[in-house]
Order: sequence, then structure tokens, then C-alpha cells
Amino acid sequence: MPVGTQATVKALTPADLRAAGAQMILGNTYHLNLRPTAERIARLGGLHRFMAWDGPILTDSGGFQVFSLAELRRVDDDGVTFTSHIDGSINRLTPERAMEIQALLGSDVAMAFDQLVHPGRPKAEVAAATERTHRWAERSLGARGRPDQAVFGIVQGGVDAALRRASVDAIRAMAFDGIAIGGLSVGESKAEMASTLEVVAEALGDDPRPRYLMGVGSPIDFFTAVERGVDLFDCVLPTRVARTGQVWTDAGRLNLRNAAHQDDPGPIDPDCACEACRNHSRAYLAHLFRARELLAYRLATVHNVTWTLELMRRLRASLADGSFADLRQRIAEAFLRDS
Ligand SMILES: [Zn+2]
Repeated sequence: MPVGTQATVKALTPADLRAAGAQMILGNTYHLNLRPTAERIARLGGLHRFMAWDGPILTDSGGFQVFSLAELRRVDDDGVTFTSHIDGSINRLTPERAMEIQALLGSDVAMAFDQLVHPGRPKAEVAAATERTHRWAERSLGARGRPDQAVFGIVQGGVDAALRRASVDAIRAMAFDGIAIGGLSVGESKAEMASTLEVVAEALGDDPRPRYLMGVGSPIDFFTAVERGVDLFDCVLPTRVARTGQVWTDAGRLNLRNAAHQDDPGPIDPDCACEACRNHSRAYLAHLFRARELLAYRLATVHNVTWTLELMRRLRASLADGSFADLRQRIAEAFLRDS
């Protein structure tokens, strides 16, 4: 899922997203409720109509942003009080309010409200936040706002195997439509992410519900997670790095600001069918980035979203035809070489 934080995947129109092969996108409850507010979006016909995207939308619950962006947080068992990063106003999110906001937005998948704790915190703190996440998960389900909206629960537990396992057991026992894995890609090592996903995969066993790894990731992370049963991802990385001039290809990362590209008449990636690669040269894009022309951001984003979604399509095909390990090795070599 490309990430449309503020009811837009930055620099792209819905037509660009469709052309890139996007099936589903993500919207952020925290941002949309602070501005323009969930009530205003509801009055304007809901998030799909507001942003003119008629495909599926998943909204997060706001928990991640409250704990990563907002200032002056106060957490109690009922919810979180925080200061808006936009205007300093005092706001409050509870499981019930997070579900109400997501019902107003009218997303297809709503997320339970959870408490993120960074894996580096003391174990007692991670354990307390994880238990609170379970109580909030029950309240989120109880506050389910509309029958046409799926609700996913979120597994926490940091990188502690026993806490993770207990969190999977708790969330799995509830009547969620899907299971999300939260609290990763927040500063832990790649090895910790892999071993935590291993624990989650074991504990979930043959549970048939979709599995969603939140906030991941890089091309290599997709393979690590898919190998451990993950179905769904969201990440700002492909769009965020595109706006700095970094594009992803089968040969790894390229920086379009590098002088080497200024005389290169070839496309970003000769195998890519996106608008940028079909029509424009690296030299043109290198020029646009140097001149800070707005088109640079759109073309680089179109390419990265197209390439990433195409990678996921190839990844699915490789599972079907047995070439997963080969594809993983090729992508890993390309992306490790230049990092
Ligand atoms: Zn391209």
C-alpha cells in the first residue's frame, strides 16, 4: 500500500496510482483528524470521494503517530492526550474515538488503537504497553462503527519473544478480520525484525486471516517478511526517498542528483514501464532535480511506486513458480551493494 498520509500519496494523482498498479492505499487517522478533521471529510462524502480514490483504503488508528510525532503525551488506561504537531492544540485519542474517526473517514479497513513502545525500552515498560494494547484492542472491536468496514488487530510485544508470542495469542483470540504486526521498523536491527517475524509466524500457525506488517519497508525487508507469511505492507520509503532523488531499480538505488546522470540519455530503468521511464532520460530527471522543478518529485515518485508494486507482483509470481530464493538473492545483492 502506498501511503497517502494527508489524503494524497505525495505528488501523485489517483490516475498515477492506478497506472502504477496500486490496489490499495493507506490514510493516516492522526493527520486527517487534526487537518482537515474527520467530521469535515465525512460531511464531504468520506475519504474515498474527498481524495477521488475509489479503490480500497486502510486507515491506521493514529497510535503510531501519537507516539512518534506528537509532543507532550500523557498516556493513561483510557487513552492518550497529546499536543498537535501542527498548531499545539490539545487532543485526545482513545480506542473509541480512533474507531469513530475511522468510521467517519469511511475506510475499508480500520485499525485497532494500540500503544507503540520502542523495542529498546525496559521490558516492564514494553510489557505494560503490550497489555494495554490488548485491552484497547477489545475496546476497539467493541466500538466498531460500521458493518462494511473490516477491523484489524495489532500485535505488539517489542522484540521480546515471550511478549510477542503472548501478544499474538491475545490478538488472535479476538474477532478481528486481519492481524497486523506493529512495533517493528522502529529502530531494531534487521536480525531482530526477522526473529520477531519468525516468532509471530509460529504463533499464528495456520490462522487464515490476512497478515499486515506495518511501516515496512525496504525491498529486502519485503522478502524477509513474505518468507514469514506476511501478505500486506505499507511504507512511506519509496515515495519519501523519491523526493530526494533516490530511485529504486533492479540494479539497486540510484541518486538522480549524481553528476554522472547529467549526460545519460537512457531511462531510470530500461525494464520499467512507468511514465518516467517510457518518456524521460536520467539526464532530464537529473536536470529537474538540480533545478528543483516540481515535475522531478512526481516522475521519481511514479517510478518508485511502479517499481515497488512490480517487485511485489514478481515476488508473488516467484512464490508460485519456485524462484523466490533467486529473486531475493538478486534484489539483496543489488540493494546491499550500494548501501
Ligand atoms: Zn520507471
